[in-house]
Amino acid sequence: MNNPSVHETKVLEFWDELDLVTKVMEKNRGKKKFSFFDGPVTANNALGVHHAWGRTYKDVVQRYKALKGYDQRFQNGFDCQGLWVEVEVEKSLNLDSKQEILDFKLDRFSDACKDRVDTYSQIQTEQSRHLGQMMDWKNSYYTHTDQNITHIWYFLKECHKRGWLYRGHHPMPWCWRCGTSLSSHEQADSYREITHTALYVKFPFRDGFLLVWTTTPWTLPANVAVAVNPEFEYAAFELNGEMLYAGSWLGDTLLKKYSVQGTFTGKKLVGEGYFYPFETDHQFPRILIAWNEVNMEEGTGLVHMATGCGLEDYLRGKELDLTILHALDESGHYIEGYQEFSGKFYAEVNLMVAQFLSRNDLLFKEEMYTHRYPVCWRCKEELVYRLVDEWFLSSEEVRPLLLEASESVVWGPPYLKKQFKNWLENMGDWCVSRKRFWGLPLPFYPCDCGHLTVLGSRDDLSSLPQELHRPWVDKVVVNCEKCGQPVKRVRDVGDCWLDAGVMSFSTLNYLGNYEYWQEWYPADFVCEMREQTRLWFYSMMYMGVTLTGRPPFKYVYSYEKVDDKDGNPLHKSGKNVIWLDEVLNDTGADVLRALYLSQSRKRNMRFDLKRVDFHVKTLKQFYNSVKFLVTYADLDAFQFDEEFRVRDNLLDKWMNVRLQQFVERADRLYSSYQFVELMTEFTEFVEELSNWYVRRSRRKFWVEDMSHEKGSAMNTLFLVLKTLAVVVAPMFPFLSEVVYQKLKNYAHGEVSVHLEKFPKPLQTTDSKLLPLMNMTREFTSLGLQLRQSMHKKVKYPLKECLLFVSEPSLYEFTGLIKEELNVERIRFLDSLDWYVKIELKPNYRLLGAKLGNRTKLLKRTLQLLSQSKMKDYALRGKKLSLDLNGEVLEVNSENFTTVFHWRAGYRGVTSPFGSLLLSEAESSDLVYEGKYREFLRYVQLERKKLNLEISELVEMRFNTPDKSFEDFLWKKESRMRSDARLSRIRKLEVNTGDVVLDTLNLEFSLFN
Ligand SMILES: [Zn+2]
Ligand SMILES: [Zn+2]
Repeated sequence: MNNPSVHETKVLEFWDELDLVTKVMEKNRGKKKFSFFDGPVTANNALGVHHAWGRTYKDVVQRYKALKGYDQRFQNGFDCQGLWVEVEVEKSLNLDSKQEILDFKLDRFSDACKDRVDTYSQIQTEQSRHLGQMMDWKNSYYTHTDQNITHIWYFLKECHKRGWLYRGHHPMPWCWRCGTSLSSHEQADSYREITHTALYVKFPFRDGFLLVWTTTPWTLPANVAVAVNPEFEYAAFELNGEMLYAGSWLGDTLLKKYSVQGTFTGKKLVGEGYFYPFETDHQFPRILIAWNEVNMEEGTGLVHMATGCGLEDYLRGKELDLTILHALDESGHYIEGYQEFSGKFYAEVNLMVAQFLSRNDLLFKEEMYTHRYPVCWRCKEELVYRLVDEWFLSSEEVRPLLLEASESVVWGPPYLKKQFKNWLENMGDWCVSRKRFWGLPLPFYPCDCGHLTVLGSRDDLSSLPQELHRPWVDKVVVNCEKCGQPVKRVRDVGDCWLDAGVMSFSTLNYLGNYEYWQEWYPADFVCEMREQTRLWFYSMMYMGVTLTGRPPFKYVYSYEKVDDKDGNPLHKSGKNVIWLDEVLNDTGADVLRALYLSQSRKRNMRFDLKRVDFHVKTLKQFYNSVKFLVTYADLDAFQFDEEFRVRDNLLDKWMNVRLQQFVERADRLYSSYQFVELMTEFTEFVEELSNWYVRRSRRKFWVEDMSHEKGSAMNTLFLVLKTLAVVVAPMFPFLSEVVYQKLKNYAHGEVSVHLEKFPKPLQTTDSKLLPLMNMTREFTSLGLQLRQSMHKKVKYPLKECLLFVSEPSLYEFTGLIKEELNVERIRFLDSLDWYVKIELKPNYRLLGAKLGNRTKLLKRTLQLLSQSKMKDYALRGKKLSLDLNGEVLEVNSENFTTVFHWRAGYRGVTSPFGSLLLSEAESSDLVYEGKYREFLRYVQLERKKLNLEISELVEMRFNTPDKSFEDFLWKKESRMRSDARLSRIRKLEVNTGDVVLDTLNLEFSLFN
């Protein structure tokens, strides 16, 4: 337990030898199915702790279902294509642009991508195994296989048949570093607060200037028009002979110093020309246009339009048949035709434009402007908008189908349902193309005749290339379906969410084995991070509904992100990344899993290894209870009695009922995926097992022969531990296996705990036992606290304990309380009256102001108040009101403090379920009893120091000048021999003891 990773490695070897997962699958084959679809992890890097959270959930659920007898597939997935992989391979090969990749040669680049995926899928497999994830690792799916690709082609062809597929030509958010556009689902969360320089620009107009505002100065050379809102009021402003045209509302702010020369509606400006000041090849008349989207919140009411640099500008430009001006190339540089700007990087153009305007006296003002701006989800560079050709799937027809299908899905947490619906309602068309290299080859073959051929299968290729990847697949020529001319594939690859989204078909061989697919589709359970609502859950849903009309999953379990311990996001590139291997070697998998399972999935997890201590303690408690049983079970050659039923022992009876309750609750919490609550149940159960049942039963195990009592306790403890090992096996697969293997020595069992059946809770009729035992534990803990406040150590017995309690059945539990509190006897009281006097202390801070000069009257009234009235109030909960010269004052716990004065010789404590008193008196016999226990403890300690086996009998010799204590000890001789495992006890010569105990005035030695 001190270095869990050591025993976990051994357990892993054991499972491997056994081929456990195959055994588990065989055991349940043909039974009721539980279908789980794994969202593929990108096989691109080693796993961090942020990957292990979801993997833990997935494993717990599948292991639990295996214990419950469900037929499962245990298939893990690896995501193998797309930008994630390309970017890492670029880094490792020291390539920095698409051109450098082309120079490196595409076949070598694709091979390098494939190698990386091979390497990291193996590393991730190994890491996941160490986390305890039980998967059919030989049978993982990979998204770059022909099987996956051909299923996507089938899907795309289906979309094409329905008329959803089209080639769009409009500005898209574009990453100049990655050289590709991004679709809205990739981009949704990738916004940052960024400060840009915004410019107020003067475009020459009439007798003065239009005042135009922009936050993207680099787009100004691509200006084609200026938009006004036809409904707004505009004004001509004048200062020192300079005339500016802008929204009239600016007279209160930006143009306060100017005088208004006249106002008019925006409509009046529409159609007028203005002067475009840049010296580019694109000289044509620029005019003012009408646009209702122009608002008053930002800018000047005059909006600069660059139809090639923004989607909205583009769409409005299309409506009005404006020129569409291309501006940037793939790498974010200005294309030819822009004179001094051509070939310049867009960020540089920002500066050049400001300088140019300022040089020509066309810059009115510069200011810093902070806004939410999109960045690349992969490389975090700021995005630009760029006019591109991309392939889209229209969403209009499928949207209502998706909305309807998602209704039947159960979402956890439930608010996800609304988020998903919201996403579907607002999603744009799906941009499925990427201008990259290592990805799904889109099967689109446009022909000069105007026809588009879309392949639906690998078999549609005239010849099979070495691989269905670039560059190999590009060399295969296909004949146009319509005119028969040879046509070439478009160069684009696919969005990686096609790769992951098709898994519900490809991994079940939908096209090759429809029956098998039907057996496992849809999934009963999927589990991924919440952000997957607009990614994997979305693409799965899109593809599933398109091909079958049915959703691909029934239940979604989602969770939030992992942050570092201070709440900062974990970055793979940043310094705060926490690698899974390090943590596994440090704490072991079971403890790490406990950490995940006890974290609310609705909040980001702050990953802090300090928090594992709590779980380490609980798992150790469990393990130590097992070690305790094993010690005595081996001594007694114990074998579990299958016929065993608890009969008369209260503690054993309780433990059995408590076990049934735990099994029943755990089953319910597993099946409803309530893991935080499950962890709490487990922790509480282990605490009660170890700190109550085992502790209170310990003495029974010390008895030499197998008494009836000892047999009952041993069988009970065995049953509890074995059942517990099975129930928690899904959560702590390693520890439960270790425990199970130990316990198998005493009873028949399966080869592995994971081949067990989840226990069925037995019906118990003893429903009162649990609350009564809780009450007993409450009383003993109150008693122990009381002892502490009395400075009476537990080892010194007290004369008596008095209980005043409303529950008469507690009488049965007297023995437990007596032992736990170490008192000679327990008496139940009918009334507390004789043992306590009540005093009511007014809270003057609260009452003072209200009472004023009647404070004295209150004091006198209290003095005259009878004890019986106060006791009715304090002990029996009756109402008490005081009459202060006609004004009634209601006594309650806020305005009065109740002080209990206990009868001399006693101390007491009250609680909602009763009162407990302890006598302060110790009899001399009782004092010696306490001393005897202390002595015994030192003997046990000495045995430990000498490394004696628990069963080994030794001789003890002692000496004490306290004659009456010596007599007491001789009276106890036989008990002491059994308690301390001594062959005999003799007297020691004076001053020759190995251990000298000053507090006991005694010395002793052990001889073997
Ligand atoms: Zn990028
Ligand atoms: Zn053709």
